[in-house]
Amino acid sequence: MADKIQMTTPLVEMDGDEMTRILWKMIKEILILPYVDLKTEYYDLGLEYRNETNDQVTFDSAYATKKYGVAVKCATITPNAARMSEYNLKEMWKSPNGTIRAILDGTVFRTPILVKGIEPFVRSWKKPISIARHAYGDVYKGVETTVPANAKAEIVVTAEDGTETRTQIHAFGDSAGIVQGMHNVDASIESFARACFNYALELNEDLWFATKDTISKKYDHRFKDIFAEIYEKEYKTKFEAAGIEYFYTLIDDAVARVVRSEGGFIWACKNYDGDVMSDMVATAFGSLAMMTSVLVSPDGVFEYEAAHGTVQRHYYKHLKGETTSTNSVATIFAWTGALRKRGEMDGLKDLCDFADRLESATIRTIEEGVMTKDLEILSTLPNKRAVDSETFLREIAKRI
Ligand code: NAP
Ligand code: MG
Repeated sequence: MADKIQMTTPLVEMDGDEMTRILWKMIKEILILPYVDLKTEYYDLGLEYRNETNDQVTFDSAYATKKYGVAVKCATITPNAARMSEYNLKEMWKSPNGTIRAILDGTVFRTPILVKGIEPFVRSWKKPISIARHAYGDVYKGVETTVPANAKAEIVVTAEDGTETRTQIHAFGDSAGIVQGMHNVDASIESFARACFNYALELNEDLWFATKDTISKKYDHRFKDIFAEIYEKEYKTKFEAAGIEYFYTLIDDAVARVVRSEGGFIWACKNYDGDVMSDMVATAFGSLAMMTSVLVSPDGVFEYEAAHGTVQRHYYKHLKGETTSTNSVATIFAWTGALRKRGEMDGLKDLCDFADRLESATIRTIEEGVMTKDLEILSTLPNKRAVDSETFLREIAKRI
């Protein structure tokens, strides 16, 4: 084999949990290390090490991403009550993705990987729908508490000069209850809007945006207004020149229109809508395992990952010694996205070419009928066969 492709600047590598952690190691060994003299700064975001470091490792990995500009991340567990006992956690650590997004203040773009033989469930969809998820604030930065009966909950805003403005949330009666406080900041909404308008121009696709501004007259309405202002001032002429459109509607109307559309546009979503809708869109395009994801910060920092989680059920099978057929495509594309971006930033054409070759080898493998079980169930190809996780990677390697 020829000399390995050289890198100049390291990638930030964020390892993760469960089945995706197993795939992570295999992808590196089978598809990357034989070809690339890989330079990474490694951060172990596996739950055990997050717990050991009181989650400091997550923060460190995000700061390293700011420093180096490109990261690739494995799926990680977001702890819940069950994980607290399973991993004997000191605390219910926050979602690493939430922490990283908050530090980078970026926008997440998710695009399905289309392959011949996997037809979208929605028959009208002919082109990919990219979802842009606002990656800061709302419920992901929320604080919440339980409220005893007969208590009163208020929002108190204390101005710089100490003036307090109180707004009652609810005067609780005989029933105890719950409250939640969340926030967003204009600066983040503005950079979200610009990221979406720029990305629409880059892909030359229409941009859709939707909120629930009829109900949320201050909070969601602010999003609508900021998008409208920035569009009018900075993008309207560029959009008209490019022949693309910015389209705002209510979130419920957007959902109905998306299903009837033929795809080929970017759908900008508030944080929670993007979280939920990207899973729906990915699954409807064929498989959650075929969705790529990139977090782009306003200062041009990129973090690549798969949209799916740690595939826990497969991991438990793996632990029992059973073979699994877990789809590694989105994780492979996280690596290729990061390697290509590193190559672009550092002027390393070989590295960019390698990323292209690995992506096309992956797609060719599936289009030649070799795929993991989740795709084999869906594929309309006549000669298809399901292979295990490792065989799939070896079949790709043969085609690089
Ligand atoms: P998940 O890991 O995405 O898996 C849900 C189901 O989707 C799987 O059980 C599997 O279905 C199918 N699936 C997803 N990815 C697949 C793949 N690559 N290959 C084959 N099948 C795949 O979601 P989850 O079970 O809700 O969450 C598991 C853990 O992941 C949780 O601890 C959660 O916190 C974490 N999570 C992390 C991220 C992230 O880091 N970005 C995102 C979401 C969730 P079958 O079991 O039917 O085969
Ligand atoms: Mg989600």
